[in-house]
Amino acid sequence: MNSFASHYKEPAPILDKENPFESMMERFEIAAKIIGLDQGLYNYLKAPTKQVITSIPITMDNGTLEIFEGYRVIHNNVLGPSKGGIRFAPDISLDEMKALAAWMTWKCAIVNIPFGGAKGGIKCDPSLLSQAELERLTRRFTSNLLDVFGPDRDIPAPDMNTNEQTMAWIMDTYSMHSKRTETAVVTGKPSLIGGSLGRREATGRGVTSVVLGALHKLGIKPNDSIAVIQGFGNVGSVTAQALYEQGVKIVGLSDVNGAIYNSKGFNINEMIDHVERHKTLIDYQNAESITNEELLELQCDVLIPAAKEDQITSKNAKKVKCKIIAEGANGPTTAKADPILQSNGILVIPDILANAGGVTVSYFEWVQDRMGYFWTLDRVNRRLDRMMHEAFTNVYKSAEKHNVSLRIGAYIIAIEKVAQTLKLRGIYA
Ligand code: GLU
Repeated sequence: MNSFASHYKEPAPILDKENPFESMMERFEIAAKIIGLDQGLYNYLKAPTKQVITSIPITMDNGTLEIFEGYRVIHNNVLGPSKGGIRFAPDISLDEMKALAAWMTWKCAIVNIPFGGAKGGIKCDPSLLSQAELERLTRRFTSNLLDVFGPDRDIPAPDMNTNEQTMAWIMDTYSMHSKRTETAVVTGKPSLIGGSLGRREATGRGVTSVVLGALHKLGIKPNDSIAVIQGFGNVGSVTAQALYEQGVKIVGLSDVNGAIYNSKGFNINEMIDHVERHKTLIDYQNAESITNEELLELQCDVLIPAAKEDQITSKNAKKVKCKIIAEGANGPTTAKADPILQSNGILVIPDILANAGGVTVSYFEWVQDRMGYFWTLDRVNRRLDRMMHEAFTNVYKSAEKHNVSLRIGAYIIAIEKVAQTLKLRGIYA
């Protein structure tokens, strides 16, 4: 085990509650103390630049009027226009948006792209909405936020329960208002309308890159290693396939309906075919059905939580039996779980590094849209691999230098970069 993981001693978290914003702030505070961040800068970086709550009236297919609540939080735009996804889910809150927006600020700084951080969403259950209702909801949300969004201001992207089609509607609505096609206002679009090749696979490809980097650091060969992946959506399935191609044995998988285990390892190409046909993993015959809790506690080398927030908490952290955790999702580990994992010698590759491949290729998409010149898939992937490798190396070095976890090492890089930029720009008054 690497030295800083085993000798790590971080102060016990101050707060007992485990909500994503508090989890983000606890890590921020630890890193801010280590670098001796000035109190004024601390206060500046803690407070989101802008928080919008907007009411979205929609005429439903049955003629009734329903009002939805939409959010967009811009955490910071010191490094450039703010960037971050839009999610559709019934349980989202402003606090969650604030945490996710701040994570985007740190993520963009770590992979060294000229963006600030933002996040948005609509409180709704997309499974209960028709395609036409989803379209009206997306368009009205976009039109309510016309003065927030913009290729030089704030650039949305897909996130939980949103996809290329949602991004196409955002692009079209914004373009109709500005009376010209404005592809760079949003990323994660279909390639026919200015999307980048490789964007859909980018997050999973980035997760794979850091997992391979961590295995190498621990002296484990990919084809001698065992992985467990929670979530089989865009991030989980692409990561599973890429690791499978590297010879990693994947013994546990899950989706929203449940989890499955096979000690011999799954053939991931077969599993992807299965999900295409059956829409779920769990009725797959050659596997034992297990619970989500059991999945997270399986003995393995690499555990990849790629589903949602707050999966590894102070309650189950001591039962986690892997060597590496690579956070494909945003915020899957709470701040209270961090010291437990650390004292058990588990190397955690934090979300703000592990899943930064998505926003990196979003940046490539924005660059291509603005140039009007589109890259080959090979160019996209090579540049992505290079940037993820550099980010992983920088975070690793920062953690070693300060004798802290990779997570705190990553926060240190991000906070230092944003704080230095802020000092250079100065405060406009
Ligand atoms: N929603 C993704 C994330 O959490 C992508 C954001 C983007 O591409 O702007 O990183």
